[in-house]
Amino acid sequence: MSMGTAIRLLSGPMGRRLFRPIMRNRATIFMLHRVAAPEQDVHGHTLEQVRNIILALARSGARFVSLRDMLERWRAGETIDPDCVAFTMDDGFADQALLARQVFLPLRCPVTIFLISGFLDGELWPWDDQLAYAFANTTKERADVVLGGQSFALRLDSPSARRAALHRVREHCKQIDNSNLYALVRTIAATLGVRLPSRPPAQHQPMTWEEARALEADGVEFGPHSISHRIFSRLPVEQSRVEINGSWARLQHELRHPSPVFAWPTGRHTDYTEKDVELARAAGMIGCVATDDDYAYAPRGREDALFGVRRFALPEDEVTALRYGSWLERARQFLPV
Ligand SMILES: [Zn+2]
Repeated sequence: MSMGTAIRLLSGPMGRRLFRPIMRNRATIFMLHRVAAPEQDVHGHTLEQVRNIILALARSGARFVSLRDMLERWRAGETIDPDCVAFTMDDGFADQALLARQVFLPLRCPVTIFLISGFLDGELWPWDDQLAYAFANTTKERADVVLGGQSFALRLDSPSARRAALHRVREHCKQIDNSNLYALVRTIAATLGVRLPSRPPAQHQPMTWEEARALEADGVEFGPHSISHRIFSRLPVEQSRVEINGSWARLQHELRHPSPVFAWPTGRHTDYTEKDVELARAAGMIGCVATDDDYAYAPRGREDALFGVRRFALPEDEVTALRYGSWLERARQFLPV
């Protein structure tokens, strides 16, 4: 029997029943970002991949629920059904509206989209995409970039060198003060000889508020994901407060019933702090989602766990998705590595 066949079998209803006890208060939340458009250098999933994963999970006995429902049940002290699977998409790109319209809605699979409000408002496009654009469009062979007082000598003379340089710069941007991040990204682009368009290029367009409203009317949920996508742990508390309250206010203004669940920008546990959790609570959020790959876990009596709920990045293949969307990955966590 192949590994794929074994996983399909084990993640089915019988395996789920047998291994329910090891899941205690765990369920699966998947996170995805973009629809693949290789000709535009956009990495992501194809509609077909997402459709096939949803169908495979449904056949295995997964139960699709909205993220808001899942968190509300946890808050009410219920033990979560480990067969629950929730889907989320981050940022609010136009292709996410397409994915919701063409895949999630026809399959009646709930999905929550987290919106960067300044992106939909036309005030900015995400700094990490701006960096990617600058590195994709530079014609320089090398450049010296200063970040947070540290100098980086970058090689840019091949696609793989440019990718490596982008990675280095982006990771360092996540470590330094984010107050003036957008100005810093413009300076980096200028050093690379690239002028950043103020409006996002075709492959980085946001959905419109009107599209969001139409999707909401059809059952898609929307939650806030900050105004500018800067990293909270690298911002002064006053700016973090504006990012949470401001994005939540924009969603409340534009939509009928936005979901009071916040998604931390970039979302690793080092990207937000206790003070940010306090701000989210004060803003009326019932929970927050992170990006560290793991099951969502909210043990009873641990309300704080609801403000850093983990998600699995949606894999590209059905077999890995079945592992994450069932008890199988949990069993693997017990194995010595
Ligand atoms: Zn994001």
